[in-house]
Amino acid sequence: MYMMKGMTRGEFDVYELRDDEFGLYDLRITTVHLDTSLPLICNHPEGSFFELSGENLSLPDGGTIPIYPLAAVLPILPAKQRMNPSNDWIETDAHVRCPDPCCGGAFHIERTGVTVFRNSEVSGAIGGPNDNRRNAP
Ligand SMILES: [Zn+2]
Repeated sequence: MYMMKGMTRGEFDVYELRDDEFGLYDLRITTVHLDTSLPLICNHPEGSFFELSGENLSLPDGGTIPIYPLAAVLPILPAKQRMNPSNDWIETDAHVRCPDPCCGGAFHIERTGVTVFRNSEVSGAIGGPNDNRRNAP
C-alpha cells in the first residue's frame, strides 16, 4: 500500500513537489446527452458518473457502468490524468462518444483535483532506482 496526498487543483498549483513525488489529476467521468438527435439507449443515464484517482476507479454506492462504453473511454483516462502542454488536444478535448452508433450519449471527463504519489512507492521498474531485485538474497 502506498501513501497519497489528495488536494485541490489550486492547492497543487502552489505545492512544491519533494523528492520523487509527482501529481496526477483525479477525474470524474459523467454521462452527457451529446447528440440529442439520438436517444440514450445504453445503461448509462445522463448524469451518472464514475471517478478515477491514480489507478483506482470508483462508482457511487450501488452504481454500475456498462463494459462497452467503459472500454471506449478507458484508453483516454491515463492521458487526461497527466499534465500536458496547453495546446495538446488532450487538454482541450473532454468528450468521448459512446461506441454504440445508435446512442447519443458521451462521457465528459472533468479534472476534479490532484493526487500526489511517490515514485519509490508505486514503481519497481527493472533496473530503475526502486528495483526490488537489488535487495533480493
Ligand atoms: Zn450509449
